[in-house]
Amino acid sequence: MPGEIAALRSFLKPYEIPSRSRLLILTHSHFDHIAGVPYFPEYAVMTSSAWDRDNEERAIRQLEHFDTEFYVDRPWKQGSLPFAKIHYPVHHHETVGPFQFFHTPGHTLDSISFTYKNVLFVGDYLSSLEFPFINASLPDYKHSLQVITELVQQSSITTLVSQHGPPADGTEILTRIDSAHGYIDDLCHLVETAKQQHDAWSDVLAQANSLFYQGRPIPLGLKSAHERNLKTIWEEYHQSLHPSSFPKS
Ligand SMILES: [Zn+2]
Repeated sequence: MPGEIAALRSFLKPYEIPSRSRLLILTHSHFDHIAGVPYFPEYAVMTSSAWDRDNEERAIRQLEHFDTEFYVDRPWKQGSLPFAKIHYPVHHHETVGPFQFFHTPGHTLDSISFTYKNVLFVGDYLSSLEFPFINASLPDYKHSLQVITELVQQSSITTLVSQHGPPADGTEILTRIDSAHGYIDDLCHLVETAKQQHDAWSDVLAQANSLFYQGRPIPLGLKSAHERNLKTIWEEYHQSLHPSSFPKS
């Protein structure tokens, strides 16, 4: 929101000295992660080298929808958020100054994580507020969790910043990774069982909606994300059983 972005700009002011580079690192192309770019015109933008312009275009439309529904004023006033001008596309395992970057797709195709000293930043992975949002691909998501786990175990990471909700410190990081795996395992088990029993999609959906995450029912506001996860896993599982029935992309 503009007020939060203004607070960030004030926070950064003392650090904006001529000898220091100004960089915005976009961890992925969701609208709540790109809406701030025009507020920092003198900053260079870093993204994954696999930046997904199609997803960015969808995000721009979502932002316009959000802003017009809730009467949010933005610096561009009319029209839409412009596409991000990318100055530094980063590759998997690339090191730039004090940062080391990793491609961690699964949440989106263009998700990246990066380390700075003992802190690991992961865009929308392992938040304490939400279960995994698997918008791109389950195998990618699981592989990225593995990459993140290895980083935590092998690179003396002490803090994880997930971008929504509070950071995780120490053993809390592995606890969150376990929770994410638990959620994914529950959905996969549901899908496999349903396929074996030839259950209808509506039955599977009803069962998924009665699942608990971290001891609580799925919150109402996250049900659509939960159903999207189920659909992704359902389709990927079906595709793995009957690959020829799906058109190749
Ligand atoms: Zn996201």
